[in-house]
Amino acid sequence: MNPFTYVNARSFKEASELLTAGRFKLPVLKAGGLDVVDHLKEGLVQADALINIRRLTVDDKPNISAASGRIRINATTTLAELAASPILWKQAPVIAQAVHSAATPQARNIATAAGNLLQRPRCWYYRHEQFHCLKKGGDRCFALEGENKYHAIFGGGPCHIVHPSNLAPALSVCDATVYVTGGTREVLPIADLFHMPARGIMDEHNLTPGEVVTHIALRDKPNSGFYAIKEKQSFDWPLVVACVALDLNGETITSARVCAGAVAPVPWRLEKVEKALAGVKTTDDEGIRAAANLSGEGASPMRDNGYKVKLLAAAVRRAIVRAAGRDPEPKA
Ligand SMILES: Cc1cc2nc3c(=O)[nH]c(=O)nc-3n(C[C@H](O)[C@H](O)[C@H](O)COP(=O)(O)OP(=O)(O)OC[C@H]3O[C@@H](n4cnc5c(N)ncnc54)[C@H](O)[C@@H]3O)c2cc1C
Repeated sequence: MNPFTYVNARSFKEASELLTAGRFKLPVLKAGGLDVVDHLKEGLVQADALINIRRLTVDDKPNISAASGRIRINATTTLAELAASPILWKQAPVIAQAVHSAATPQARNIATAAGNLLQRPRCWYYRHEQFHCLKKGGDRCFALEGENKYHAIFGGGPCHIVHPSNLAPALSVCDATVYVTGGTREVLPIADLFHMPARGIMDEHNLTPGEVVTHIALRDKPNSGFYAIKEKQSFDWPLVVACVALDLNGETITSARVCAGAVAPVPWRLEKVEKALAGVKTTDDEGIRAAANLSGEGASPMRDNGYKVKLLAAAVRRAIVRAAGRDPEPKA
C-alpha cells in the first residue's frame, strides 16, 4: 500500500471539490471505508488521498426521517441504523430486512448506505491483482471459462459480475431516488445509478467525477419484503436476493415491484413476475408460486451457476409471502 493523505471533508460539497480540484492525483472518496480499504490492501487502487465523509450529514434532521409518504435516508447512515429503524420496519420493511443480516454486526456498524450501493463487485478475478480482467483493462472475462459459481445468470456479459449490494434492489422496489452534489444535476432515479458492463466496463455506476451522494429518498412500501439465500449466514454475500413491494386492495395484489440482487451486473427487475402477480390474492400460494417460477425467464447461466435459477424462484416466492405479511418459513 502506498502512503496517502487523509482529509476530513467539512461538507459533501467540499468533498466533491477535493475530488476534482486537482490538489491530489488520485483522491478516493471514503465513507465507512470497508470497501475502499479492501481496495487499497488488494492493490486495486493507488490512492494518494482519502477524502473522508463518514461523519457528514445533509442538515440537522435525523439520519432516517419520514414525512408525507416518503422516507429520507442520509448517505452516511450505517446499515446498523437502517436495521434498527422503527420507521423502516413499519413503512418500508424491505429496507430494514435487506440490511438486518447483511455482512456482520461489525461491518453493519461501519458500512454506510451510499457506500453499500457503490461498493465494487466481489468477482474473485476482479479482486485478485494477478488476473488482468476486462474491468482492469484486460482483454477477457475469466469467469467465462473459469470458476463461475457466483457469477451472473442475467445480462450476457461481456463482464459477468453480480451486483453485490443488498440495499440497491430493496431501494429499487421502493421507487427510490438518489440525491447528489458536485455535478450538473441534483437527483436521479435509483435505476439510473447503475449501468450494465456493455455501457462501461471499468465502473458500475453513472456518477460523474466529483459527484457525491448526499441522501436517498424512497416511498412508503409497508407491504414489502426481502429474502436472501446464502451459503453462510454471516460474513458473506448472498447467492441470490429477492425484494418485493406489493400494492394491495384487501387481499388482492393490484400491482407489484420485484427486483433481484446477486444475479446480474445491476439490480435486476423481474417484470414478468410483477405482471403475473397482478390480481393474485396474497393467500393464493399456487398463484404466488406460479408467478415466482417466472423469475428465471431470460436467464443464461454458465457452467457452474445454473443452480441460481432455482434458488431465485424460491427466494422470490418467499419474499412475496413476506411482503404479504406472512412467514415464508412457517414452523411445521
Ligand atoms: C465480510 C463482509 C460481508 C459482507 N456482506 C455483505 C452483504 O451480505 N450484503 C451487502 O450488501 N454488502 C455486504 N458487504 C459489503 C459492505 O456492506 C460494503 O463494503 C459496505 O456497505 C461499504 O460501505 P462503506 O461505507 O464502508 O463504503 P466505502 O468503502 O467507504 O465506499 C465504497 C465505495 O462507495 C463510494 N462512496 C461511498 N460513499 C459515497 C457517497 N456518499 N457518494 C459517492 N460515492 C460514495 C466510495 O468512493 C467507494 O468507491 C460485506 C462486507 C464484508 C467485509
